[in-house]
Amino acid sequence: MNLARFPRVSLAHLPTPLERLDNLTRALNGPEIWIKRDDCTGLSTGGNKTRKLEFLMAAAQAEGADTVITQGATQSNHARQTAAAAAKLGMGCHLLLEDRTKKTEFDYTQNANVLFDALHGAVIERCALHPDMNGEMMKIADRLKAAGHKVYAIPGGGSNPIGALGYVDAAMELVMQANTARLKIDHVVHATGSAGTQAGLAAGFAGLHSDIKLLGVGVRAPRERQEANVFQLACATADLLGMSGAVKREHIMANCDYVGEGYGFPARSTIDAIRMLAKLEAILLDPVYSGKGMAGLIDLVRKGYFKKGETVVFIHTGGQIGLTAYASDFLTNG
Ligand SMILES: *Cc1c(COP(=O)(O)O)cnc(C)c1O
Repeated sequence: MNLARFPRVSLAHLPTPLERLDNLTRALNGPEIWIKRDDCTGLSTGGNKTRKLEFLMAAAQAEGADTVITQGATQSNHARQTAAAAAKLGMGCHLLLEDRTKKTEFDYTQNANVLFDALHGAVIERCALHPDMNGEMMKIADRLKAAGHKVYAIPGGGSNPIGALGYVDAAMELVMQANTARLKIDHVVHATGSAGTQAGLAAGFAGLHSDIKLLGVGVRAPRERQEANVFQLACATADLLGMSGAVKREHIMANCDYVGEGYGFPARSTIDAIRMLAKLEAILLDPVYSGKGMAGLIDLVRKGYFKKGETVVFIHTGGQIGLTAYASDFLTNG
């Protein structure tokens, strides 16, 4: 896996810390729990999209693009990190934000990620829930091209094989850190959405012949669809790396029992997990992704799926700026 042959720009603070969660481990009395702080990647409050954007923005530059375009939900962390990356690299940025929740509060529609999008100078367009957001985005890209721009389109979540390289790199970084710390990792757990994070990790672990078990906790799609999306992208990422066939279907596991009402709606278990980590570890999770991922981890420890004597690493994928868009959920939920 020779990642250095792919164009890359430096955007993230790497390596991100790998830390033991002593208080959570003690409270749950199960496996030893560690956290990989990908919320600390540094770019405009950080998060997992920054690793992907190191490869995606370099690809945009290599094609001579002056503008990038991407899409996501109103409170998309990916859109915010893309806007920040474009600002830093002196490129234009267009965002198409989809209203997936019909929330009307100012904090949701204008604050948090949306505020940062605007501060970074992105042009924001909005649309209602749409089955083909990447298609809608390409219509805007065509309009920008007709106006003379050289446009590079980044799919939702930055999830294509180029973006997933960021998480191939993260897999290598994590295995290296664990070796240095003499830490035997049994499981890695994280929130999975547009699939690039899990696909990159799966391809990276396969390329390293690591026996670490990877579990994505879903935030939107049902399990079968989520696993199929991740598997397809992991295989395409392996192809790009010249290691076709390395990722096996049985390497791809998702648990989608913690979605609750749907994408962008924190479940009771999400709120509880956010409160628990904030109080026990002074770590802030987010209401759309990492809070659901941690709710899954906590419940699966309690159910005995992760056992005493094992080591579980939770990848904190960021997004905590989104908490301010959801303040009312915390005030009304005890
Ligand atoms: C995008 C995102 C995820 C999910 O990552 P995917 O690569 O889209 O599966 C998880 N957590 C946060 C905070 C995110 O913004």
